[in-house]
Amino acid sequence: MTIAARQTKLLRGWTSPNLEEFKYPHFVSGEGIYVHDADGRAYLDGKGMMINVAFGHGIPSIAQAAAEQLAKMPYLPTMDSHANAPADELARRLVELAPPHLGRAYLSTSGTAACEVALMMTRAYWRLRKKPEKTFIVALDRGYHGQSLAMTAVSGFESVRADFGPLLREVSHVPPAYCHRCPYGLEPQTCAQECASAFEERVQAIGPERVAAIIVEPVVGAVVQPPPPRYFEALRECCEKHDIVLIADEVITAFGRTGAHFASTRFGLEPDFVCLGKAITNGALPLAATLVATKIWDAFREADHELYFGSTQDGNPTCAAAALAVLDLYASDDWPRRAAATGEHLLGRLRAAATDVAIVSDVRGVGLFLAVELSDPETHEPLDAASFAPAFLDAGLLVHLEGNIVILSPPLCLTTAEAEELVTRLMTALASTDSENKQ
Ligand code: PLP
Repeated sequence: MTIAARQTKLLRGWTSPNLEEFKYPHFVSGEGIYVHDADGRAYLDGKGMMINVAFGHGIPSIAQAAAEQLAKMPYLPTMDSHANAPADELARRLVELAPPHLGRAYLSTSGTAACEVALMMTRAYWRLRKKPEKTFIVALDRGYHGQSLAMTAVSGFESVRADFGPLLREVSHVPPAYCHRCPYGLEPQTCAQECASAFEERVQAIGPERVAAIIVEPVVGAVVQPPPPRYFEALRECCEKHDIVLIADEVITAFGRTGAHFASTRFGLEPDFVCLGKAITNGALPLAATLVATKIWDAFREADHELYFGSTQDGNPTCAAAALAVLDLYASDDWPRRAAATGEHLLGRLRAAATDVAIVSDVRGVGLFLAVELSDPETHEPLDAASFAPAFLDAGLLVHLEGNIVILSPPLCLTTAEAEELVTRLMTALASTDSENKQ
């Protein structure tokens, strides 16, 4: 069943204003890795909606926990000295899950806000430490950190920034590790890890005394490139050498997605801030968190310095109750191990199946965060993945399409049998148009 988009009064983000019809069917229910449209057709959710439905659709314990809190005390703030038991408990549980040096958690309502909090605290921290000239943020091209004005400046998409300037000026972007289309034009045989050296070179160019923070996604979501060897070692060395705050944006990668609780620890980073969101409530309610290193928080505590930020719904107890139910679910199984095992199986099966599909130029990823890259077989020019959207829907498969990349981020409950089905549906969709490209 399709619905006419032009009849709605709702303004939607990342959507053409002249859209005549919704691209996706009208989904009305979901269970496990499937969602159902209003006609009862099941679609395999290969993208976990917005990579936030991480543990599967239709989980009753999350709904129940939120409903109970909603009935008891739906709202309490986390500012103005109010006690808020669910928020308190959630912060405790998040800190318990995190590496030991991250001793505090700030709760907010979106991944954008989680990153914003990290940057605001960073700037305040350097002022407190009597280094107010440390204001610059180094970030990655193609990195994404949200949609506020500041995060639009920090995110690495020129096309997105173009509409909203002038933006925060003290931001500098370096090319990401993206081996399949290396920004430095290198091949594996000639690669000397130029992308890893880029952090140090850029910091030197700005002046280390002016650089406040480097923010990275441990796996850049737009290209789904796991870090090459030495990459994060070089980043860590750069931050340590020049006293630069390291922010890991784990809005996508935390909670088992890459086969570990946190991708940053998996890849050997020790960030001062870790930004969380999405999976934290399995997408059910708006909540996010910023984990803060004890050494940073101690600077504020010792100076008894009040931070002038906080938003009305930060740490909303109903959202926190939902997140606590998610953490219970998360603790009830070894989700990272499951994601690692199913992800490895899926990666192998995708690579095997792709050998028959000429337009697939690369299959890569980590855990259950994978990319299938589409290129013209003759010229290697990127193919527009969006042109395959109808074929994916016909095959009953939901995926993210980013430029020429098909991104797979299914709920972590995916079984190996369901992974097989995902591969079949994906390859059916690609094969339906691949034959034209082979001519
Ligand atoms: N950081 C990353 C890595 C993201 O992928 C996103 C959203 O997709 C955000 C931050 C922003 O999160 P939100 O959309 O919840 O504001």
